[in-house]
Amino acid sequence: FSSQTKIYHSLRPPISLPPTTTPFSLPDYVFSLLPRPPSSAALIDASTRRRIPLHHLPHLVQTLASNLRRKYHLSKNDVAFVLSPNTIHTPILYLSLFSLGTVVSPSNPLTSDSDVSRQIHVSKPAIAFATSEIASRISLPAALRERTILLDSPDFDSLLQPCDEFVRSEVFQDDAAAILYSSGTTGRVKGVELTHRNFVAAIAGVRAARAVRSFPAVTLCTVPLFHVYGFLLCIREVALGGSVVVAAGRSLESILGAVEEFKVTHLAVAPPLVAAMMKSAVVDKYDLRSLEAVLCGGAPLAISVFERFRQRFPNIYIMQAYGLTETTAGITRTVGVNESEVRGANGRLMSNCQAKIVDPVTGYVGDKEATAAMIDCEGWLRTGDVCYFDNEGFLFCVDRMKELIKYKGYQVAPAELEDLLLSHPAILDAAVIPYAQLLRCSFLFYLLSYPDEDAGQLPAAFVVRQAGSTINESQIMDFVAQQVAPYKKIRRVFYVDSIPKNAPGKILRKELIKLASKLASKL
Ligand code: AMP
Repeated sequence: FSSQTKIYHSLRPPISLPPTTTPFSLPDYVFSLLPRPPSSAALIDASTRRRIPLHHLPHLVQTLASNLRRKYHLSKNDVAFVLSPNTIHTPILYLSLFSLGTVVSPSNPLTSDSDVSRQIHVSKPAIAFATSEIASRISLPAALRERTILLDSPDFDSLLQPCDEFVRSEVFQDDAAAILYSSGTTGRVKGVELTHRNFVAAIAGVRAARAVRSFPAVTLCTVPLFHVYGFLLCIREVALGGSVVVAAGRSLESILGAVEEFKVTHLAVAPPLVAAMMKSAVVDKYDLRSLEAVLCGGAPLAISVFERFRQRFPNIYIMQAYGLTETTAGITRTVGVNESEVRGANGRLMSNCQAKIVDPVTGYVGDKEATAAMIDCEGWLRTGDVCYFDNEGFLFCVDRMKELIKYKGYQVAPAELEDLLLSHPAILDAAVIPYAQLLRCSFLFYLLSYPDEDAGQLPAAFVVRQAGSTINESQIMDFVAQQVAPYKKIRRVFYVDSIPKNAPGKILRKELIKLASKLASKL
């Protein structure tokens, strides 16, 4: 790693944002951009096939907001906890709450009770919204349970019925809009507060960079609307005047069926779906001719998957983005066909953005607190990712610092080895973890195991083999060993039926590390 610190500035033209001195909420911004005269673009529910034209949204949002205010006395800065699968109502609910100045705090419906109680402790919601199935499964504190609106109940339907008078709130861009929970694959769940301004800036950046289209885009949102990726996407694409198809199911066939049925032009997915499309035979059963681009972000996309996808679908380009919940999603993006052709790149910095690359080993010399802090004293957000920029301003994300494997003092990036494994035709999916080698001393009555002091951590692979494949452990290890430096060799292989991943596609390594030690103790 270079020990030099360097600041990179966006190569895209700077953009000006709406002034912050007068009330102007995120919905005000979104609705100010809707096409006039109205186009055919709509919000569409992939499961129910319900369509709501975009030009009906301002009225519907104001209706829901006014009814919520009147019936539940929701006000500015109250927090609304939302537990919902992706439905057509989710973005409408978000926009209504924003317009009241209420802070939207969506959680993964599969979150454990203990994580939900930590989230509630952090965000202190005044009201909750959940489907009846989720509400019956997740335990909420009694006071919040009493103020839980069931999204699939007549109560919620009544909130969408016309009201006598619209209520207006004074919401400024600097007011909080959302508390999103970062994925928590490492460490404790954190609530990230984002303002209306953060979302306005994120939307304005994409708006300035995208080419003007002759007909509205149709974006299929398969990523969850509780994660910053889907949360921003569903609102941004409405603001950009396109149709948004909201899909709850994430099976490959249901997604491909929706692409065909709704003539989707842009498919927003997490990396595992790109890999599934690239490898699966069922793809050939569907008419994907409408598809122009796959939007991919939230987790690393292996270069081998990128290349094989492009070989199989030469007319569909992959638009990648890199960002964090804390950066309101993508701060770098590939925009347009040319940028998307750059192999392995996560795109260029968006307008008005800057990035600083610092030495990952030294951090802020002599200042442990600054190194550990998420935001440093100069205002830089510390991402914890190992990244570099090339000469043309493209960002490459190597891996997360916390996930690097330390083998005999050398650093091994799991993503690089996963990429190699995925390039093998007999391997459907793979994950690489640090494996603490256990040394054993057997005595008559007991067995002692302790970590291998010499190697520290060994790179170990979990592999999902293609159906019918008989590839064995040493073939897998040899395949990798032939292509990497000796310290990067895979030293253990475990077979599994699937790799556990969270909704944005991040490998749940903590689960695999636990599984590896369980498997090892059985040996
Ligand atoms: P979250 O806040 O849950 O969105 O997680 C942010 C993290 O996701 C980043 O710090 C990266 O580790 C990872 N990430 C996001 N986008 C990408 C990408 N395009 N390539 C590689 N890693 C990514």
